[in-house]
Amino acid sequence: MGALLSLQQLGKDYPDGDDTVSALAGITLDIAEGEFVALLGPSGCGKSTLMNILGCLDRPSHGRYLVNGRDVATLDGDALATLRRDSFGFVFQRYNLLATASAEDNVALPAIYAGVGRRQRRQKARALLTRLGLGARLTHKPGQLSGGQQQRVSIARALVNDAPVILADEPTGALDSHSGEQVLALLQQLHREGRTIVLITHDLDIARHAGRIVRLRDGRIESDSGAVLRPTLAATVAATPAPLRPAGAVPWLETLHMALGSLRAKLFRTALTLLGVIIGVAAVVTMLAIGDGSKADVLQRISAMGTNLLLVRPGAAGIRPTGEIATLTADDAHAMQGLPNIDGVVPMRSGSATLRVGNRDYQTQQVQGVWPSYGRVKDWTVGRGAFFGDAEERAQAAVIVLGQTVADSLFPGGQDPVGRYVMVSSIPFEVVGVMSSKGANTFGQDQDDVAFVPLSTAQSRLFGGQYVNSITVKIADIGVSGATETMLQQLLRARHGSEDFQLRNTASLVEMITSTQNTLTLLLGSVAAVSLLVGGIGVMNIMLVSVTERTREIGLRMATGARMQAILLQFNVEAVLVCGLGGVIGIVLGLALVWGLRLGGVSVAFSWLPPLLAFGCAFATGCVFGYLPARKAAQLDPVLALAAE
Ligand code: ADP
Ligand code: MG
Repeated sequence: MGALLSLQQLGKDYPDGDDTVSALAGITLDIAEGEFVALLGPSGCGKSTLMNILGCLDRPSHGRYLVNGRDVATLDGDALATLRRDSFGFVFQRYNLLATASAEDNVALPAIYAGVGRRQRRQKARALLTRLGLGARLTHKPGQLSGGQQQRVSIARALVNDAPVILADEPTGALDSHSGEQVLALLQQLHREGRTIVLITHDLDIARHAGRIVRLRDGRIESDSGAVLRPTLAATVAATPAPLRPAGAVPWLETLHMALGSLRAKLFRTALTLLGVIIGVAAVVTMLAIGDGSKADVLQRISAMGTNLLLVRPGAAGIRPTGEIATLTADDAHAMQGLPNIDGVVPMRSGSATLRVGNRDYQTQQVQGVWPSYGRVKDWTVGRGAFFGDAEERAQAAVIVLGQTVADSLFPGGQDPVGRYVMVSSIPFEVVGVMSSKGANTFGQDQDDVAFVPLSTAQSRLFGGQYVNSITVKIADIGVSGATETMLQQLLRARHGSEDFQLRNTASLVEMITSTQNTLTLLLGSVAAVSLLVGGIGVMNIMLVSVTERTREIGLRMATGARMQAILLQFNVEAVLVCGLGGVIGIVLGLALVWGLRLGGVSVAFSWLPPLLAFGCAFATGCVFGYLPARKAAQLDPVLALAAE
């Protein structure tokens, strides 16, 4: 059985401009299990450098360092972390406690990385603190403890994983002589219990507490008082060389707990970061709901106009008609009726006219001459009375059906217009019916401001001429509307000998408007997405600041055995937590906004896709923007991290 710690011709160089500075040169030293060694030397002689190498926080530039006969040069980062965790307990001159954690939690920290359960960790930390005389200070934060008490907390932390070796770098450097004596007595006691202690100091009086004094000067060993072995104790410890427990991953729940803890420690900052994400997600949810809502609204109004209708207008496409075009006739409409897949045809001849009842005048937008099939083709029912029939059409009868607006204007106060007479162009028309109310169309026009008369009556008695202004065709099966359209086109071309008409269907109108609306939704969505991105950048910014701020904490976690993976995971989880939480609150806020808008009469369409998408984005943002800072944290050199201010 060789020495527990064995340094062979060990050297450490630091770059100094183009040159290198040799902090350690040719150190050969064996430390046996159970020894209490003091490394004594003036400031700058390389004591801390040596301790960092002994504790596997740093690697030598030359020579070999064997721990329990194993060359550390052969170990990778994770194996070194495991070795640190299981073999060494560090005590630093400046304690290096986590300011936001209680004494108990500080002591328990290394045990997290050793995979010890929460309850057990607590118990152990309490027992150790009680033993070191801090039983009444378990929940105190480091700021509430004296220097000597803080150093005892850090000694308890060094002991929590039962490390066989305690490395103490100037542990009394910042303490008054009384507290210093207490700490030294504690180290001696630990030595008596069988632990190996390496004490670093520049003070001979302190070094005298150790059994063996090794003097260093300018990176070399000046003198060595020689090993003082106490065979009985050393043997008992050496008989059970601690096997390296595999470096297990920190459990998820533990990581989550730690992440929550550090988020809570900076509550205000966390809240501000959250706000960025919340606004982003809420914006996505609300904007998309508004966009979809307005689309659905427009589509619904258009389909109320009838998507199965074809409109035939006179005049060639692209030519702006001047005056009335007289190419389309009622005979064309008759011919169309004979075609297959046609559910109904209604020609229309319209003009504006003044309607009069007694001395009450009403100028309607349109008096339309139509066939009795009008109501069926347009899906428009009569509210009161009846529409005129084929007999009236054949007889050019002076009968009229009023739209609701016209009826209300001419017969105010709830009078029944049916059976009454209305003067149109000095001809008395009998009111036979009143249409049901239809309201405004997509373009805001009042569809009830209209009156219907038989087509034959309109042509011969009101407006003159044998032509019509349009023919509306109702298609039976919308699935083959294309073929029907072609047939209509061929029929009319054959009848007219030229393409002096236009066919328009509402389906193409729907298509056009849908695409416009989609553009709008896309625009709203991208504005929202940008705000989500800004939120994400905020998260990254905060995480980067937090990494810089907590550099020492990261160094400490690594010194106590945290693997790179654990650090990476912790910072990632913090970012993802912020984004995930922000995502959830953002969705709730967004839904509340959508709900409020709906109550306020704005048409919104809610579907689960945008919120899920927004949440997914926020979550992904957390992963992506959390990764860079997390990686930065995980790649920190433990020695430099610990030395950071
Ligand atoms: P001690 O702890 O005995 O006071 P250190 O081990 O801290 O001494 O330093 C030994 C020598 O190595 C000093 O000259 C110091 O300037 C140098 N040194 C220590 N750390 C670094 C570093 N990271 N980069 C460059 N030089 C360093
Ligand atoms: Mg030092």
